[in-house]
Amino acid sequence: MGELRLLLLGKPGAGKGTQSLRIAARAGIPAISTGELIRCAIAEGTELGRRFKDYTEKGKLVPDELILAMVEERLSESDCQRGFLLDGFPRTKPQAEALEAWLQERAMALTAAVSIVVPDHVLVERAAGRRYSPSSGRTYHVKYAPPQVSGKDDVTGEDLIQRDDDREEVVRARLEEYQKKTAMLADFYRVRSLLVEVDGVASPEDVERRIAEALQPVS
Ligand code: AMP
Repeated sequence: MGELRLLLLGKPGAGKGTQSLRIAARAGIPAISTGELIRCAIAEGTELGRRFKDYTEKGKLVPDELILAMVEERLSESDCQRGFLLDGFPRTKPQAEALEAWLQERAMALTAAVSIVVPDHVLVERAAGRRYSPSSGRTYHVKYAPPQVSGKDDVTGEDLIQRDDDREEVVRARLEEYQKKTAMLADFYRVRSLLVEVDGVASPEDVERRIAEALQPVS
């Protein structure tokens, strides 16, 4: 496999976080989740974290300039030189254009934009049952992907929590933001022949297999 530079597109709850950890581990590249970077900044209580929280708690996207500074800093770290997988970025056209320019300036190209497709009614149910391990970013579902011990992370045993923004009214706001600002990115990557669409209504193992198969021709 050559250098992989991937990004995952998909509505909140489509399985981006789960799949990005699996794919990145297999490919030996870092998984970079802007949502995780944001949650860490909020947990640390930094000034930037407080600004992020004003948006995330309402289900709104954080302004592009804040996200771009954070992503460019992360992509400049040495572990990204042999490839990376972006989860939850880009989410707007200006973010996609900035990423394209950033890569072009370094004579790099994206390998593929993988879109995980899941209908809205499934997403609301997934979010309601989603549980999250703050230190690792691993996620579970009380019914569809339960941890070995109820309420505990499989690896560290720490308590799982529900994300503040997984409450139903916030999930609906996040889905609206997606429709308004992010949905068009499928076309952005389709016209560049980079879009790979995968049906995300299946077990994590099956979705992972589908993504691996869909990526075979390009990786
Ligand atoms: P996620 O974990 O990807 O669902 O992200 C959680 C929240 O962080 C989102 O609802 C947004 O408020 C914010 N966020 C994450 N990534 C981005 C991004 N690329 N652009 C703007 N806001 C983002």
